Amino acid sequence: MTTATELPAPDPSSTLTVPGPAPTTDAEAAPITMLNPDFPFSYDHYLAHPDGLGSVPPALYGTEVAVVGAGLSGLVTAYELMKLGLRPVVYEADQIGGRLRTASFPSAPGVVADLGGMRFPVSGKAFYHYVDLLGLDTQDFPNPLAPVTSSTVIELAGQKHYAETSDELPPFFREVADAWKAAVNDGAKFQEMQQAIRSRDTARIKELWNELLPLMDEQTFYGFIAGSESFKEAGFAHREAFGQVGFGTGGWDTDFPNSILEILRVVYTDADDQHRLISGGAQRLPEALWEHSPSDMVHWPEGTSLASLHSGAPRGAVGKIHRDANGDLVVAERWGREASYPAVVTTCQSWLLSTRIHTEEALFPAELWTAIERSHYMQSSKTFVMVDRPFWKDIDPDTGREVLSMTLTDRLNRATYLLDEGPDKPAVILLSYTWNDDALKWLALDADERVELMLHSLEQIYPGVDIASHIVGQPITVSWEADPNFMGAFKANLPGHYRYQQRLFTHFKQDKLPESQRGIFLAGDDVSFTAGWAEGAVTTGLNAVWGVVNHLGGTSAPGNPGPGELLDEIGPISLD
Ligand SMILES: Cc1cc2nc3c(=O)[nH]c(=O)nc-3n(C[C@H](O)[C@H](O)[C@H](O)COP(=O)(O)OP(=O)(O)OC[C@H]3O[C@@H](n4cnc5c(N)ncnc54)[C@H](O)[C@@H]3O)c2cc1C
Repeated sequence: MTTATELPAPDPSSTLTVPGPAPTTDAEAAPITMLNPDFPFSYDHYLAHPDGLGSVPPALYGTEVAVVGAGLSGLVTAYELMKLGLRPVVYEADQIGGRLRTASFPSAPGVVADLGGMRFPVSGKAFYHYVDLLGLDTQDFPNPLAPVTSSTVIELAGQKHYAETSDELPPFFREVADAWKAAVNDGAKFQEMQQAIRSRDTARIKELWNELLPLMDEQTFYGFIAGSESFKEAGFAHREAFGQVGFGTGGWDTDFPNSILEILRVVYTDADDQHRLISGGAQRLPEALWEHSPSDMVHWPEGTSLASLHSGAPRGAVGKIHRDANGDLVVAERWGREASYPAVVTTCQSWLLSTRIHTEEALFPAELWTAIERSHYMQSSKTFVMVDRPFWKDIDPDTGREVLSMTLTDRLNRATYLLDEGPDKPAVILLSYTWNDDALKWLALDADERVELMLHSLEQIYPGVDIASHIVGQPITVSWEADPNFMGAFKANLPGHYRYQQRLFTHFKQDKLPESQRGIFLAGDDVSFTAGWAEGAVTTGLNAVWGVVNHLGGTSAPGNPGPGELLDEIGPISLD
């Protein structure tokens, strides 16, 4: 998380960056990766290892394994299981892609809107392993004050600040950035942690994190800010502005009630920084995984893909999961078809295991059910319009400035992003991207009502700019909490939730569970320590692959230990 307000060293994409000292050695110059401090396992190295992720006994080739959900996590899981010679059977209630969902504007199908994940930090190395493997193009995402963003407007309490670079903002914003930098350095050893992450020094990462965990688990993000010396000294206006514009991706005050641990994981790993979008839309990634035929598969003939194994379509929505008298796991679809499996991976949001899927209670320990039920989801809403061209780059002759800019505001819209593919093509305005209370304000309104209010807000910031006259076609809007297959946007733990997250994350290693609770694995965004970032969907899918292989009697490649082999050594500690 970063603010462009400072950026002494040019920071590509953020508003409030926390720069460290200039690197002096190779290790210091190494890139930050999403090496999560709870489990600093190098998934990128694991994936790149020439010996692969392991093997199952040849007698098991073709064994069916159920994968519930065709989002990114389910498809990574299915893809890797297929490569190992198993036969994944994917179930999906709605669209391939899940929360990587891209909508097209009907009158110009090439013009797209990413309704869920849209900007992906370059530090997410496991995510980009698949982006690169599948040959997808990416571009810089136009975050506030990012180099690719030609201008940004910050409008708070009716005061408007226009800036093409962070240096052009008033000194107040630098003070806010400095206060945040001091808060995370003094309170959470930010620089030391980033240095340890750069050098992949897992012992040091664990040492730093394990000391912070018990101190921070019951602390809110806001409590951390308000309790820090730097923000106490700076005063309320600085805390308020920090919440409203504070991070590279926009204001994060809707995260203030969440556990500070959630925020630290993001900032330590630069997940808020250097974002790229997938050209043509984020959904291209799961779709490509579904269609792709890997070259290094065992058992399956050349040309096999997940699509070909499923004759083109995944199975339907799952309505029930239980264990039969033989000990197999039975997956029943909502419309009746049943099949039994030696192993099942569920990747849907975990609440759905009790609300939409009748999951036999005995399949999970009671403490795991508690963790599932305590899940706290962020709400999120986005509203897009297509416009005839990127008119915002027109220069106002009176001011010499662009007529409309990427905008952060304390008005209803909160954040407006401008996306274009060149001067003479239709372009897209993400009029408003909001979370939590800000998202709930939109929930009851239809798309047109939303757009009207959003345009009204923008008119106050840009008087005389007729945005409406550029709109073509119908707006596209989403509220993830209104979709019964999601019930929320993404998980965000509240204070005191570390224990729940630890249970969910470590469940893939089942050696201590009774036989009756083995064979069903949880994966996906909810299970990850960095929910809301697609990297966690990928890495928890890889954990589940390890769990399934191990459960079926397979092993990791000898020179490439998997997440389950290292979990006890460098995994999340117990606070009890
Ligand atoms: C608004 C929003 C913004 C985001 N922004 C970013 C971002 O900018 N960068 C980033 O990295 N990440 C972002 N994310 C997070 C990212 O989208 C997720 O981490 C990722 O897409 C989750 O993948 P998944 O496979 O774990 O879950 P999902 O994508 O939710 O996949 C689960 C699948 O299960 C299916 N399902 C549900 N019930 C059933 C059932 N009964 N039977 C069968 N299938 C079922 C669902 O339809 C879904 O397809 C964002 C998410 C949202 C919602």
